[in-house]
Amino acid sequence: MHLHPFELHRPTTVEETLRLTGGLAGGFDWLAGGTDLLPNYKMHLNPKPHLVALDGVRELTERGPGRWGAMTRLGELERDPAVARDYPGLSEAVREVATPLVRESATLGGNLLVETRCFFFNQSAPWRQSLGYCLKAEGDRCHVVPQKERCYATFSGDLAPALAVLDASVEIAGPSGRRTVPVLALYDDRGDGIRRHHLGPGELLVGVSVPASARGRPATYQKLRVRPAFDFPELGLAASATFGEGRLRSLAIAAGGLETYPRRFDELTAPLVGAPLTEARARELGEAVRKAVRPVHNTFLAPDYRRKMVAVFVRRALARLSTGAVS
Ligand SMILES: Cc1cc2nc3c(=O)[nH]c(=O)nc-3n(C[C@H](O)[C@H](O)[C@H](O)COP(=O)(O)OP(=O)(O)OC[C@H]3O[C@@H](n4cnc5c(N)ncnc54)[C@H](O)[C@@H]3O)c2cc1C
Ligand code: SF4
Repeated sequence: MHLHPFELHRPTTVEETLRLTGGLAGGFDWLAGGTDLLPNYKMHLNPKPHLVALDGVRELTERGPGRWGAMTRLGELERDPAVARDYPGLSEAVREVATPLVRESATLGGNLLVETRCFFFNQSAPWRQSLGYCLKAEGDRCHVVPQKERCYATFSGDLAPALAVLDASVEIAGPSGRRTVPVLALYDDRGDGIRRHHLGPGELLVGVSVPASARGRPATYQKLRVRPAFDFPELGLAASATFGEGRLRSLAIAAGGLETYPRRFDELTAPLVGAPLTEARARELGEAVRKAVRPVHNTFLAPDYRRKMVAVFVRRALARLSTGAVS
């Protein structure tokens, strides 16, 4: 496996970055920690002739209370006592990403925009060529759902669900200015694993913020994967809940690792808010979330098993949150 030749650019400010990318012919990718992008380049998965390294852009490394630049390394988040104290669910999710070594390079922005995954895509070029490639790279068919003309590659980042239950938002900069959107608004919820996010041409993530109201909110993250040492999520379930006078005051559940985009299930959790949380209600909610998700068979574990585990994880999350047994 070898890398295609590319030209590396090293801007130092967001403004310089945006000016630079306007003139790059043939396309470019942002390069953060490179822990996802470069292995994909080695497998010749949609490489571009230009890479724009973001590690010299100071603004992307800046941090404040409840706010992290997109170039914040996951290792830094993991070691930050304020993150562990104020955002226990996020802290749990960070510790579940890849390996300690990968987390030293991997960044928050790169994790939110990690490439979608599929058993037929994350393979070497000769492997893919033997099947005639696929829609997501160089081919014209999908091997998972051949009767459809879209890609079902799975969103496999751990941090998006954990940030979604904290009502996090992302700051975006681009040729037409800056904007801030809820973290889940980054993703294409029409369900296409190729057009996986809503960033426009030349737009990049600047940072991620969590509102003050989410500080200290009890939250949890559970992950299903084949090898606990470093595998991507086959299901990642985040939940946050607050209680008062024996009743649920707030409840949010979000999942990744199942479909082409991470989702929050507000339409299913809203009816429970204001009522006491019973075991029967927790079970019903688990079943409802299980029925709402549609994983396909493009990762290692069978879709039916992953759906069953959604219901189990919802019940476990609610049990942990209602007894205060969160990390
Ligand atoms: C062995 C191994 C195991 C892994 N396990 C997991 C896992 O369990 N869970 C998990 O979530 N991930 C896992 N990963 C994937 C990856 O390491 C992480 O998702 C990581 O956080 C990606 O961050 P990065 O900075 O390396 O991104 P990069 O590889 O640099 O970039 C990833 C993508 O995001 C884009 N991008 C990066 N930063 C920005 C920005 N600021 N604005 C716009 N676009 C941007 C890049 O252009 C690229 O398309 C694993 C990787 C390896 C090698
Ligand atoms: S879901 Fe289909 S089109 Fe998408 S990566 Fe897999 S095989 Fe390719």
